[in-house]
Amino acid sequence: MSAEVETAFECTNEPPHRFAIVERMRNREGVLLTLRRLDAPYPKREMFITGRELKMGYDNVYKACFVCVDQGRKETAIVLAKADIQAGL
Ligand SMILES: [Zn+2]
Repeated sequence: MSAEVETAFECTNEPPHRFAIVERMRNREGVLLTLRRLDAPYPKREMFITGRELKMGYDNVYKACFVCVDQGRKETAIVLAKADIQAGL
């Protein structure tokens, strides 16, 4: 029996929106993630992380927060740990 451990990610908004990765798919160009919002019901959203972003020398990748963008805010980002983006791939 394997327990699915869901890592929560937050955006930089105050209060932060919270997300979990529910699906990962690697292709030639990078990794396609499906994100589920945890702090409120919201449609799932796909997010593409390019191979170039994964090769940069940082532990995290910063992507625009789609909930914030939907609300008209553009300065925030979801902080995604590379280790989790590629977990199990
Ligand atoms: Zn946000």
